[in-house]
Amino acid sequence: MKLRDYLFDVGPRSLYYAATRRGWVQPINPLTLTFSVTAACQSRCKTCNIGSVYLANPKLAQNNLSLEEIEKVFRSLGEIYFFNISGGEPFMRPDLAEIVRLACTHLKPKLIHSPTNAISPKFIGKTTRKILAYMDDLLPPSVPISIKPSIDGVGKMHDYVRGYEGNFKLLERTIDTLLEIRAENPRLHVDLGTVISNLNLRHLDEIEDWVHARGIESYRHEIAEQRAEFHNLGDPITPTAEIYEQLTERFKNKIFGNIHKKAFLTRTTEAVRVVYYDVAVEILKKKKQVTPCYGGISNIHMNYDGEIWPCCVLGGDQSLGHVRDWDYDIQALLRSKQAKDAKRYIADGKCACPLANQWLNNVLLTPRHMLKVLYTLLYRFRKGGAPAEEERPLRVVDPDAVEVNIAGTERRKALVMDKLGTIPREEEVELPRIE
Ligand code: SF4
Repeated sequence: MKLRDYLFDVGPRSLYYAATRRGWVQPINPLTLTFSVTAACQSRCKTCNIGSVYLANPKLAQNNLSLEEIEKVFRSLGEIYFFNISGGEPFMRPDLAEIVRLACTHLKPKLIHSPTNAISPKFIGKTTRKILAYMDDLLPPSVPISIKPSIDGVGKMHDYVRGYEGNFKLLERTIDTLLEIRAENPRLHVDLGTVISNLNLRHLDEIEDWVHARGIESYRHEIAEQRAEFHNLGDPITPTAEIYEQLTERFKNKIFGNIHKKAFLTRTTEAVRVVYYDVAVEILKKKKQVTPCYGGISNIHMNYDGEIWPCCVLGGDQSLGHVRDWDYDIQALLRSKQAKDAKRYIADGKCACPLANQWLNNVLLTPRHMLKVLYTLLYRFRKGGAPAEEERPLRVVDPDAVEVNIAGTERRKALVMDKLGTIPREEEVELPRIE
């Protein structure tokens, strides 16, 4: 996010969002719209059951919003800051480029992002070129799009976690294709992302070495979560709070270790991320929203069938309404009693979670957190902050040499959730032992 955007656009909204949260004023547009464009996905990931649910019932995707319906919603919503595409697998929608064209026309976002399971390199390449052509026509050159293939292991380990034989080889081809396009159009950013779960905890160094050896500019992790969106409530995939804290310390050390090489803009983003990590750990320890969550206000999530959620963790459990029931008038939907009730549930602190997409915005909207961001940026980064991790030599791993050996099971601690949006409890569960 640019400083100018924060000072003149995001910052001033925080007061209004706080008033909306208390029910004093009518909602204004969110900063972020996440849109799960399709129910379809080819993967059977161990950390997300969207693909398994779809493969058991492919008719689900017939309920995807059509382009005409999407245009009506986007026209009614108007301008936002961040258009965050989600799925299913977004590139399983043949008209994905047209959806982005409609977003450029009506939402005029300043950032666009899409993840991908990287299973269809050819189509991903073709669609990315089409998307970039629309963006060049309709948006200023300063608006970037990031496409983030998932990498949850190296070689067979990736295929195992993603539940798709041959996915790693396809991932390599997708990365090559995207980097080729990036060389032609710098508007495209190629990120890689790992979901850290109990399954790949011991493989993180190997994944990171591989990513850096491929010359990828940005690599992000997120912790495996149990979400309504993922149909994985109760699955013991989330590492314990203690491991979560250790992981965030490690991420912060890496940021501190490399910060001197970064431009001012990247330093600012990294300062927000450092504060987010502290907030996430605080939430898990205190088991409550440590400052107000603006789910349903600063961020909204539209599911493939047009149901509007406050966030992907609560999903339809606290639905704000369904655009098809409101003649696609999303502004009226957001002012409805149902939407107010869902926002009241969140404002009353009945849920708590460290969802990155939401809490990164919550940090930006909370003065206490922003003071910490300033302190981190102006003092801790200059001082060197936490000790930097030693740079490890880069090493390319031959994917064919990596075999997944599931040597039975073992009892390990994991976070398990009984009810969506509540803080999970720690429990010993049987997990595959991967060597
Ligand atoms: S579940 Fe998490 S992200 Fe969603 S509204 Fe509650 S605290 Fe915010």
